[in-house]
Amino acid sequence: MGDLSSRVVIVGAGHAGGSAAAFLRQYGHVGPIVLIGDEPLLPYQRPPLSKGWLKGEVDAEGLQLKPSSWYEEAGVSLRLGGVVMGFNRGAKTVTLASGEHLPYDYLILATGARARALPIPGADLAGVLSLRTAADAEALKGALGPGKRLAVVGGGYVGLEAAASARALGSHVMIIEREPRVLARVACETLSNFFQDYHRARGVAFELNAGVEAFEGGPLGDRRGHITGVRLADGRVVACDAALVGVGAHPNVELAQDAGLECTGGIVVDLESRTSDPFVFAIGDVTHRPLPLYDRQFRLESVPNALEQAKQAAAAITGRAMPPHEIPWFWSDQYDLKLQIAGLPFDADTQIVRGDVSGAKFAVFHLKGDLVQAVEAVNAPPEFMAGKQLIAKRTPVSLEKLANSTISMKEVAA
Ligand code: FAD
Repeated sequence: MGDLSSRVVIVGAGHAGGSAAAFLRQYGHVGPIVLIGDEPLLPYQRPPLSKGWLKGEVDAEGLQLKPSSWYEEAGVSLRLGGVVMGFNRGAKTVTLASGEHLPYDYLILATGARARALPIPGADLAGVLSLRTAADAEALKGALGPGKRLAVVGGGYVGLEAAASARALGSHVMIIEREPRVLARVACETLSNFFQDYHRARGVAFELNAGVEAFEGGPLGDRRGHITGVRLADGRVVACDAALVGVGAHPNVELAQDAGLECTGGIVVDLESRTSDPFVFAIGDVTHRPLPLYDRQFRLESVPNALEQAKQAAAAITGRAMPPHEIPWFWSDQYDLKLQIAGLPFDADTQIVRGDVSGAKFAVFHLKGDLVQAVEAVNAPPEFMAGKQLIAKRTPVSLEKLANSTISMKEVAA
């Protein structure tokens, strides 16, 4: 049974935390909701920070999940700039850095993840940047423009998106990647090669198989010194005016760990986003969650995941039926490319490429036998949509039909 008048405290006012407050009210919760976030801003979307916002196509207001008036109307008490230092599961209180204790009936941890730093010499030089928050994006934007040189360390989605935006703003861009290909951790080789070629054709340079040893810099008036180049493991130096470090994110699990909750690669939650304490939920990037379809636990970093888990926690607290499980999905925009990914290629034994890779309109299907496990679709929404359905319904497909793009996805899925 849910409790519509319970007192809910949400720690972390990001995509997951902000959405949880909204779903609670949508599901009829009438009790007090306190939303605490250490950033000074209303809950906002991060995806545009490397895309539309960086290019000046979206303004700060356009990033917000809800306008400020919504929180007042919905009776959600915002504590922006508030840092939570810990919580006491016995007393059911949260402690803020100010020393204040706030009581809760249910606690939702939505603390997200932080950009992983590179622990190498020069990492504290001015101009060595990361991209997680609006403040980070502001600093990056200041380093971009015609003729400016940006070194991107790490060829993941954030690095590639920032590279595409930096090119649009006239910067010179070099991507430095430790692996032999970009997106090595998160995409198949066909997709990696495609993105490398697409970026190269638009003026981005690459150093692959390249370890980074240090950031070099000289004092430029300020005491800290400013970056002048990135030193590679083979001794060469890539000259730059700024370096964006995009080498992944680390889940902010410390509060949960200190409180004795189970944490393995993220805060461990169940199918209702409940932690090992029945009065504490965890949602979004910080969680290590079950993926029933793939029979394993995993940590996802995506907006759809943050939304799904926000719904789950709100449903559990208000006593509503659990929303149906969703197929994990993700998107990335670079130049005029829309990449959409559904599912995860766990246990896949076959890859089928459908469409025209050189024409930038194709999809890579990952199958286990004749079942689709995942699809990576570039400018191919029908393949993405149908692929998502096939993954959800576990419908066997004909591999020959799937590979033949003259046969519609409707017919393939029939
Ligand atoms: P966050 O949004 O990180 O929010 C967590 C909040 O909690 C933060 O504000 C943090 O400061 C705060 N917090 C942490 N600890 C405390 C504490 N002790 N006290 C108070 N507050 C605290 N996903 C997609 O699906 N598609 C995309 O195209 C895409 N692009 C992205 C581009 C960029 C540049 C980035 C950074 C991310 C992108 N993502 C994308 C990922 C997506 O933004 C995240 O999955 C999503 O923001 C996760 O939401 P969250 O609420 O779990 O974490």
